[in-house]
Amino acid sequence: MSVTGKRLQSTIFEKSSPGRGGGKIPHAPADALARIPAAARRQSPPALPEMNEPEVVRHYVNLSQLNYAVDTGFYPLGSCTMKWNPKLNEWAARLPGFANLHPLAPDAVAQGTLQLLWELEAALAEISGMRAVTLQPAAGAQGELTGILMIRAYHRERGDLDRTEVLVPDSSHGTNPATATMAGFTTVTVPSAADGGVDLDAFTAALGPRTAAVMITNPSTLGLFEARIGELLDLVHGAGALAYMDGANLNAILGRFKPGQAGFDVMHFNVHKTFSTPHGGGGPGAGPVGVGTSLLPYLPAPRVLREADDTFRLERPGERPSSIGRMRSFVGNTGVLVRAYAYIRAHGGSGLREVSDDAVLAANYLRVRLAGTFDEPYGDRACKHEFVASASSIKKATGVRTLDIAKRLIDYGYHPPTIYFPLIVDEGMLIEPTETETIETLDAFADALIAIAAEARSNPQLVLDAPHDAPVRRLDEATAARHPDLRWRPMAGADTPCPD
Ligand SMILES: *Cc1c(COP(=O)(O)O)cnc(C)c1O
Repeated sequence: MSVTGKRLQSTIFEKSSPGRGGGKIPHAPADALARIPAAARRQSPPALPEMNEPEVVRHYVNLSQLNYAVDTGFYPLGSCTMKWNPKLNEWAARLPGFANLHPLAPDAVAQGTLQLLWELEAALAEISGMRAVTLQPAAGAQGELTGILMIRAYHRERGDLDRTEVLVPDSSHGTNPATATMAGFTTVTVPSAADGGVDLDAFTAALGPRTAAVMITNPSTLGLFEARIGELLDLVHGAGALAYMDGANLNAILGRFKPGQAGFDVMHFNVHKTFSTPHGGGGPGAGPVGVGTSLLPYLPAPRVLREADDTFRLERPGERPSSIGRMRSFVGNTGVLVRAYAYIRAHGGSGLREVSDDAVLAANYLRVRLAGTFDEPYGDRACKHEFVASASSIKKATGVRTLDIAKRLIDYGYHPPTIYFPLIVDEGMLIEPTETETIETLDAFADALIAIAAEARSNPQLVLDAPHDAPVRRLDEATAARHPDLRWRPMAGADTPCPD
């Protein structure tokens, strides 16, 4: 690993100085130690760093300022919908009645939260055209598992045990085949056609009596609306299979396309994408799942129910034996669900439609601005809320790859877009600006990418060596992913990753 060290700091252990700082326990009883049974007492002090309070605060505040966030800049990470998270949401999520509610509180004292969850389920059902929604899954990936387990329960209950396959397009997110495998199915990959849509002939050939489900992302991960969706869904149902929609790209179609009405049997929402919530650091999110009539009996338990007297309660254990059971503790990631509710209520139906229209407009604006500089693998077809550009020609001419361009963007002060996803695009960049950015920001970002493309031709080494201005330069990403070493150990001399 190469380190420039400009803004990088030593670890808190290296800053520690014996005898410095130390917590002060107010009014500790004189016999505090004697009150702890001898067997429970430490033989030696814990190996904690010793620093005074301002040093500790500065250490962590400085570390936090190495972070890139939507609060600090443009975040065009495709497929992630890193939109601005309105501060109103944070206010709502921190209201003491929501934030301080014990997860095991009896229904009688949790009425406000239960009502909010019930109303959020209804809003998501309305937005998607689905019959009912569960809010339990912790993220989109777990929503997928929830949906596919319901599909498994559906086929099993009908004695349809030979349906062991799940069809997944080759442009799909890696969580789709992972979900099918985790639920015990075999994944069958369907290739994409030249226009980026599902290849209808290959799809028809793969579909049959062994197909349990088809997972489709619409708009696809290429940012393209699947124009043959009606035909595809008719084929799926004609074969006795069920259709799962990966709803990660819902931000493009709010108020324009209802998956439930189109004929999807089940879908997940990534509320931390479509309905705001900061999620760049790996969570928490929430992945509610909507179902049509066929899967209604299998929804996870407990559901939130409204009684005849307009009070709310959770289903009791065993109340609905057809349920696939619990997917997660308690009722879900409530803080994220409160944010989604606040976002939906603040926008209203017409506001949500405007969100999608503006997201699509912003993406097409950027797409057209970059068209002469990067390759357009699917021609100049209008995109939805995101689009793929490719550095394939730049690589052939200069040796500079998409990874290098992404690293150089860091020098220009931007978070790079998603790169090398979907896997089917050579040197691909998946760019998603979201509806929350100004035209000045979009222009400045386009200017940066155009400038980097010019650098790749005039001074490729500059781009190949980027980033020049970040605290850490090129990481060994494969090793970091395959053999993560997350525990700090003292290191000596040259092994120390931080400058002395
Ligand atoms: C983000 C995403 C997922 C997974 O969702 P998580 O909430 O990150 O678990 C699945 N499919 C697509 C297309 C996505 O973009």
